[in-house]
Amino acid sequence: MQTTRAKLEVGGQLAIDGGKPVRSSLLPYGRQTIAEDDIAAVVRVLRSDWLTTGPAVTEFEQAFAAVTGAESAVSVSSGTAALHAMMHALRIGPGDEVIVPTMTFAGTANAVRFAGGQPVFADVDAATLLIDPDSVAARIGPRTRAIVAVDYAGQPCDYDALSDIAQDKGLALLSDACHSLGASYRGNPVGCLTAMTVFSFHPVKAITTAEGGMVTVSDNGLADRLRAFRNHCMNADHQIRAANGTWAYEIAELGWNYRLNDMQCALGLSQLGKLPEFIGKRQALAGRYDELLADVPGVTPLAVLAERTHAYHLYVVQLDLDALTVDRGAVFAALRAEGIGVNVHYLPVHRQPLYRDARGSCPVAEAAYERMLSLPIFPTMTMTDVEDVVTALRKVLYAYRR
Ligand SMILES: *Cc1c(COP(=O)(O)O)cnc(C)c1O
Repeated sequence: MQTTRAKLEVGGQLAIDGGKPVRSSLLPYGRQTIAEDDIAAVVRVLRSDWLTTGPAVTEFEQAFAAVTGAESAVSVSSGTAALHAMMHALRIGPGDEVIVPTMTFAGTANAVRFAGGQPVFADVDAATLLIDPDSVAARIGPRTRAIVAVDYAGQPCDYDALSDIAQDKGLALLSDACHSLGASYRGNPVGCLTAMTVFSFHPVKAITTAEGGMVTVSDNGLADRLRAFRNHCMNADHQIRAANGTWAYEIAELGWNYRLNDMQCALGLSQLGKLPEFIGKRQALAGRYDELLADVPGVTPLAVLAERTHAYHLYVVQLDLDALTVDRGAVFAALRAEGIGVNVHYLPVHRQPLYRDARGSCPVAEAAYERMLSLPIFPTMTMTDVEDVVTALRKVLYAYRR
């Protein structure tokens, strides 16, 4: 294959074999973007009267609800806490099953277990790695209560098909949008597409509060349950007690301390103002990857569907292993040696030892796992960085060509 060779050849010995790396220091796959105004926002809180459960919490929640088109938003201490709170709000418990895609972070499934329920794993579409509505339909049984859609990589799922299934079977449709803050589906922002939607503010996500999470809701009854859950399921928080001139509260259900503090909420509010800029940068970088990779044989980016905007939390490609003499693990190691911080998202959750006994297989996700790589993408990355990643990919694929 003369043309394939010509397209891949960059020359030079691989860094993993002692050659000169494409980059002298590691380009991470993701990282936060923090500016002086973000820092100033946190410092202002440190000088104020409230370090936690003060005015910054409400401000951040109201701004977040406005950006996502939701009725209300409830902040919590992480995306995982948000998933747990969502399961509590829906009253998931022992005997209940919740369908989740296997191609996700383990927290999506674990949250069902925290609430006493059982996750059931659905397979994904081969081109997008988004939850496959046909696989969801096939997993529904007498104990199924809900479906959690995961907007893998930052692209919204097929919400029309999923909500048809949910309505038909009387199930709740929920979203894990930890990848897709800032994306939209048929003109509507992620956050108002289902009854409850979960977000994470971990440093690699679209905006950060160091650790943090949010649940957006379409119904204020759910918001009340979420607010109580993050505060030990007390029926009155400190502000309500102060307003009523009483110390008394009651606890009728088991709750947690999942509160997000005012320093974090001030940072979140400052970050939220930059969300359009951050997503715009990610989309521009993805566009450059698309252009450059169109010319690299054996590397296929995930398909992008119509009627959506994509938040590009991840830029995932699939390798044509038949064209290589090595497996994905060797390509990963060689790229790391070239200074490219590639990653893998994810080992399908049903393959984790914790879920050894889960029923149903997910062959599409399992096959995709063997071939996938996440390439670096974050707002402060440059177009030159993108070119370095593609140069390193071509160098490694040429060296390992069959
Ligand atoms: C990041 C992430 C989570 C967990 O969020 P944390 O804030 O790290 O707890 C859950 N689901 C998905 C899909 C994620 O990417």
